[in-house]
Amino acid sequence: MDNCLFCKIAAGQIPSDKVYEDDSVYAFRDINPQAPVHILVIPRKHIPSLDGIGDASDQELASCLRAIRTIAGQEGLNHGYRVVSNCGPDACQSVPHLHFHILGGTQMADRMA
Ligand code: AMP
Repeated sequence: MDNCLFCKIAAGQIPSDKVYEDDSVYAFRDINPQAPVHILVIPRKHIPSLDGIGDASDQELASCLRAIRTIAGQEGLNHGYRVVSNCGPDACQSVPHLHFHILGGTQMADRMA
């Protein structure tokens, strides 16, 4: 999609701190980290949010989950990590391109909201 920040990042048109990529997934460090490790995992295909996954293939979605596991290993998150995908305004989604936050490297609160 022409005017999407994360599409531009995945295409290399806007710089990012890349941690992983494959044919269908790109991952990079969040510019405003909320934990010692804070990485965003995105499908290369423009999908606005989890509500739009009808337009993604099972392979594309599974690749995101497999990438999350690979990245957690790369980052040494051996004691665990949290995965969050904000969907829509009630969840304060600020970038309308499906993304999964990987948060880790610290003991996290036992409540999510
Ligand atoms: P969300 O609020 O769930 O839509 O998450 C969007 C995330 O994108 C936020 O955590 C932002 O800090 C992050 N973000 C926005 N712009 C950039 C950027 N240029 N590079 C890396 N992360 C970004």
